Amino acid sequence: MKALVYVRISHDPEGKRTGVERQRKDCVSLVEERGWTAIGVLEDNDRSAYRGKQRPGWNEVIDRIQTGGVDVLVAWASDRLTRHPRELEDLVDLLEKTETHVVTVTSGEYDLSTPEGRATARIVGAIARHESERKAERLRAANRHRAMKGQRMGGRRAFGYDEDGCTIREHEAVELRGMARWLIDGHSARSLRVDLNERGIDTSSGKPWTNSRVTEVLRNPRYVGKRTYQGEIVADAEWPPIFDEQTWRRLQAILNRPERRWRGGPLKRWLTRVAVCGRCQQPLVSGQVSRTRGPSYTCTTDQGCNRLTMKAAWLEDYVAGLVVDVLSAPSALERFAAPEVDEDELARIIAGLDNIALRVEEADRDYDDGHLDRARWLTRVERLRSKKATLEAQRDRLLRSSTVGMLPDGDVQTWWSDLDPEQRRRVARLLFSEVVVSPSRNLGGKPDWDRIQVRWAA
Ligand SMILES: [Zn+2]
Repeated sequence: MKALVYVRISHDPEGKRTGVERQRKDCVSLVEERGWTAIGVLEDNDRSAYRGKQRPGWNEVIDRIQTGGVDVLVAWASDRLTRHPRELEDLVDLLEKTETHVVTVTSGEYDLSTPEGRATARIVGAIARHESERKAERLRAANRHRAMKGQRMGGRRAFGYDEDGCTIREHEAVELRGMARWLIDGHSARSLRVDLNERGIDTSSGKPWTNSRVTEVLRNPRYVGKRTYQGEIVADAEWPPIFDEQTWRRLQAILNRPERRWRGGPLKRWLTRVAVCGRCQQPLVSGQVSRTRGPSYTCTTDQGCNRLTMKAAWLEDYVAGLVVDVLSAPSALERFAAPEVDEDELARIIAGLDNIALRVEEADRDYDDGHLDRARWLTRVERLRSKKATLEAQRDRLLRSSTVGMLPDGDVQTWWSDLDPEQRRRVARLLFSEVVVSPSRNLGGKPDWDRIQVRWAA
């Protein structure tokens, strides 16, 4: 008897082949026990019959049976042969026509020449197919169940944890806490990426950090001990957190601030969007660099009047002078020390902002789907926008207190010259409720300090 062995494993993501090797060994032993001659072993690995992928090994099996060189087909189990009823029927026909037998290691022999044997094969095939369909649903259910119990997800190792997803890798945890501190202290997220890469700290996949990887990691609720499922936090995680709740909330609030966006690179002019135009009250932004006057602040935002500009060095020197003066006064820290952040309040505001974002999306969807006409859509979005602005202002007021930690405890002038533009802007936001630049009066190129009006905060 000439025996052809066919082995297949449907799931082998790591390419270990252990499943195939075991099947092959069992099948070959069976051939030897029966005293047959093995004329070949064909295999398919990591190919699910149910998902309809190509099976080159199986195709050759069919070819060789068709050409009549096979007396018995040996497989490990019937569901290793085929899972489609159609395929099974074709196989039964072929085996009958060529008088080929089928023997499996686990379920013994089907004599496909008898009605009983064929019925058994069909039932076994039908069960295997049903199993295939159920498997996907079982996997989904198992994943959901694991999520609800806060159990870890599989996949790539998370930065800060070992491969088991639960043991903290202390030196990486230290980095993460440092990253959070760095942002909370008013540094830019971009400078964080540069710093990590310069020091040779790699991501968990051993690659250098990118901007998006940095924010992706710092936004991941896993680090505050929360398990997510399909993007939602669903449970307290089984692993220990790396951030405490307070750090976490503050970090998210900072990452979600629009001025935190990467676009445009690092902040160059620290009074950008702090100083406003005295004509139209719109924020001033970094303007053209003129050959004779150098960099400037100008009123060129979308809503701006476009008719005001001031030499950047004048405005910055003047405001910096005020900052250094006021912070050099003995009572300065008391004056600007904000009360402790009300964390519950902050959480409420952040949840409110999230909710508004969802409702804007919903309105957009309704408009797109034709459930909402343009006028009603505009009204709704406008209302949400104004709510959003109110909440953002509340949030920024609360977050100001995290700037207080940055205030100097030694020589103010030295402290100030060491700050980067992002930090200077945060200090300016903390100290001033308003910096207004009036229109130029043409003093023949001399600085006109009277154009600058400030109002101190608190
Ligand atoms: Zn203006």
